[in-house]
Amino acid sequence: MDNWAWNVSWFSDPVFLGHYPEEGLERFAAYLPDITESDMRLIHQPLDFMGQNIYNGYCVRADANGEPEAIRRVPGHPKTAIGWPVTPEALYYGIRFLTERYPLPLYITENGMACHDLVSSDGRVHDPNRIAFLDAYLGAMQRACEEGSEVLGYFLWTFLDNFEWVNGYQERFGIVYVDYTTQQRIAKDSAFWYQKVMETNGALLSCNQPMKQILFLKPVCTHNIWGGRKLREEFGCSEEGDDLGECWGISAHPNGDGVVRSGVFAGKKLSWVWEKHPEVFGNLDYDRFPLLTKVIDAREDLSIQVHPDDAYAQKWENGSFGKTECWYILDCPKDATLILGHNAATKEELASMIHEGRWRELLREIPVKKGDFIQIDPGTVHAIKGGILLLETQQNSDITYRVYDYNRLSNGVPRELHVEKSLDVITVPAKPVQESVKTSDAGEKNELCMLYDCPYYQIFRIQVQGRAYFEQKYPFLSMSVIEGDGIINGYPVKKGMHFLLPCGFGRAELSGEMILIASTVRR
Ligand code: ZN
Repeated sequence: MDNWAWNVSWFSDPVFLGHYPEEGLERFAAYLPDITESDMRLIHQPLDFMGQNIYNGYCVRADANGEPEAIRRVPGHPKTAIGWPVTPEALYYGIRFLTERYPLPLYITENGMACHDLVSSDGRVHDPNRIAFLDAYLGAMQRACEEGSEVLGYFLWTFLDNFEWVNGYQERFGIVYVDYTTQQRIAKDSAFWYQKVMETNGALLSCNQPMKQILFLKPVCTHNIWGGRKLREEFGCSEEGDDLGECWGISAHPNGDGVVRSGVFAGKKLSWVWEKHPEVFGNLDYDRFPLLTKVIDAREDLSIQVHPDDAYAQKWENGSFGKTECWYILDCPKDATLILGHNAATKEELASMIHEGRWRELLREIPVKKGDFIQIDPGTVHAIKGGILLLETQQNSDITYRVYDYNRLSNGVPRELHVEKSLDVITVPAKPVQESVKTSDAGEKNELCMLYDCPYYQIFRIQVQGRAYFEQKYPFLSMSVIEGDGIINGYPVKKGMHFLLPCGFGRAELSGEMILIASTVRR
């Protein structure tokens, strides 16, 4: 009899359908009076609408016999001042249940929360919990309406703090505070917020403001024979293992599609958000999210490789993007070097040097240090050397041609090389090194400084020391914290975190001691 999950259909079925639920008649048989035909006629009158108060719901699952079984809430589940659980889903499922079971439009006749409201030293009543509650519940109601439920009205409980039928004046449900001694009224923060919700007909709700939310992404890590442990130890990767080579921080690539951690898109993959909400990315004219940001930890030398451009990849790699990429050196040993470009003067010379294995003569090895920026155009022979940790920003593509792998074995056999395709795409002669390498120590502090601009991406760096502001005026901005920690628009962030600022995000406010690398594409 205490199972309130029965409450709704037990009382509503007779009113709206003209009979009690069969299962209830059996279950409650011992307690029931004689119910006559004329009782039912009286109860079941023609009605114009139904009204329902919805505050919270139970969480149930099907037990082994298919019967509903209540699930205990986790300790610390949010609750209101009166002890009722905060369950915004109840407004969604409650509305769906009622409007699908009964053939009448619905009014939500009560919904709201009791808070521990008090007057602050500024004379105001700040009730952020009530705003968060209403924001989530109204969003849930909107979802039900969008899916076809007919809700004609919503009554927020309540305007003034009032006499609660069980607890009297102990609980404060109002959006206007009442001092019961003086009868003074003070509009709470939630009243001003609700005024705006009404003015904008709900446009202000979080669920309708995806552009104002930071999309924090859960990175995807890969195990590689050349990988190490820095991604786990320094960059917050939760993956086990001492062979973590890559951490795909911002990616919608099928081989590592990042999941949004919080906000209106929580649990959704980045590719899903891209497809369903192109406005978040400024309605760009691309058929997929265009960039991929990853951190690479090379414990050992990586193979010598080259990537094709868009035209070649379109034709020979199933319509894939080509791959233009760039590196920002996060950390490296004192005398670190990497491979960038080659010394062959003609295609013929290139081919013979590769076929004869004259690698020392062919490959251009250049010194690098922390903070260097390196652009790698398609057709550029390149390789990361052991000990280097870097942030790579690239076109959303995975097409790599391996030119040489130091004759190493993987599981007893040499890894596959792609010499013919490499010869097709390698640019001869190679671009001068100075055109591809940029030292980025310079640049104003606390300003978003551009490191590089090409048709595929724009790369920025911002060093925050104290406070920094900038306007997010790009279609989107992928951001990675590469050093230190701080706060962005109220959210704590630290080294190893990756997130996206949507189109129209507006003013970004950063504070702390940190360095971030950002990227976007041209409109
Ligand atoms: Zn590469």
